[in-house]
Amino acid sequence: MSSFIELVDVTKLYGEKGTAVRAVDGISFRAQRGEWIAIMGPSGSGKTTLLNLIGCLDQPSGGALLIDGTDTAKLRRGELARFRSETIGFIFQQFHLVPHLTALENVMLAQYFHSMTDETEALAALRQVGMEARAKHLPSQLSGGEQQRVAIARALVNDPKIILADEPTGNLDAENQRIVFQILSDLHAQGRTIVMVTHDEAAGKLAERRLNLEHGRIKENLLFSAEENQDFDEVLEHLWARREVAQGTKPHTEIHIESHDFTAVQWKRLIATMADIGLVSVENGEERFTAKGESRARDVIRRHRLAERLFMDVLSIRDEHEIESSACKFEHILSPEVTDRMCTLLGHPLACPHGSPIPKGACCAEKRVLGAEEMASVLSSVRRI
Ligand code: ADP
Ligand code: MG
Repeated sequence: MSSFIELVDVTKLYGEKGTAVRAVDGISFRAQRGEWIAIMGPSGSGKTTLLNLIGCLDQPSGGALLIDGTDTAKLRRGELARFRSETIGFIFQQFHLVPHLTALENVMLAQYFHSMTDETEALAALRQVGMEARAKHLPSQLSGGEQQRVAIARALVNDPKIILADEPTGNLDAENQRIVFQILSDLHAQGRTIVMVTHDEAAGKLAERRLNLEHGRIKENLLFSAEENQDFDEVLEHLWARREVAQGTKPHTEIHIESHDFTAVQWKRLIATMADIGLVSVENGEERFTAKGESRARDVIRRHRLAERLFMDVLSIRDEHEIESSACKFEHILSPEVTDRMCTLLGHPLACPHGSPIPKGACCAEKRVLGAEEMASVLSSVRRI
């Protein structure tokens, strides 16, 4: 899978060796063309530094940054400036308009660095953000929201594929925030890739994906909903089953687990997100578990297959579809304690009803027998679900 933006173990240090601040500390992630990503996290977590690295405004201290297949470290200074102005448009919290130039001139200034200035194009960019009528105004004659719209027109004038926005609504009132987010939505709908820094949760939800930073690292994203986490679990199960088939440890009667309900696009997005949070990695186009992903997959598979055994052996359910759909529900909600008790209750079974191996848990080594009370509590918690 070739990505539009790819960061590989990128770091940025500030200051002297030994006492340096690791503003960005080994970040890897990929964005596909046309994605809208929000970078979130507390003040000082490295959001601006990361965005400036992606925007080639700053050079990483380590790691690699590829944009549209171009390794940015390999570009010479002049090439880099050209690449940046052709590919990337910036929107800053502080607008950064030149005070003694009009709105139109501010937009044309961005063209100047690019190639020839073209007033018609600059006016068209102002029109896109509803500011054409104010073209001759100086920044001081415009409200904050209007200044930001001029700044967005400036970012758009060279028709960049990537828009980078650092707290674009940080200095705006609610109404102007709404206008700016509407413009960003339009830009996204046009197929542009957007990476936006924000610490506003509502704003973050507008994006398709969120990266949460903490101390310069991507934190496992607590903003993922239960549904998103279930999707991750399903992908992990699918990868687990695929590996079993490849290794020949899975009987062919259960091949139906091989198929999944995601579209190709959904699958790609899920894999990209799961790679960001360190559950999978993609090597030579093939998805693999990381240690963390493998351990989470093992847990999900264990819960699923133990639940199947429970329905068959204890609750005497024979309907395949009922077993499968109940097991799918259970695999997301059983706590580790209930899972181990269920395993003990079932006598630590080695395989699911279809013959696929059940990964062992801590309880399997203990070979403990459940008391009547514990047995009752497992069954009652199962019934509650
Ligand atoms: P955020 O945008 O999430 O608030 P920043 O990327 O601005 O965070 O900063 C991350 C860390 O790097 C902070 O500890 C900050 O003090 C430090 N930092 C940022 N820029 C510089 C710089 N130019 N020189 C030294 N330290 C910096
Ligand atoms: Mg910042």
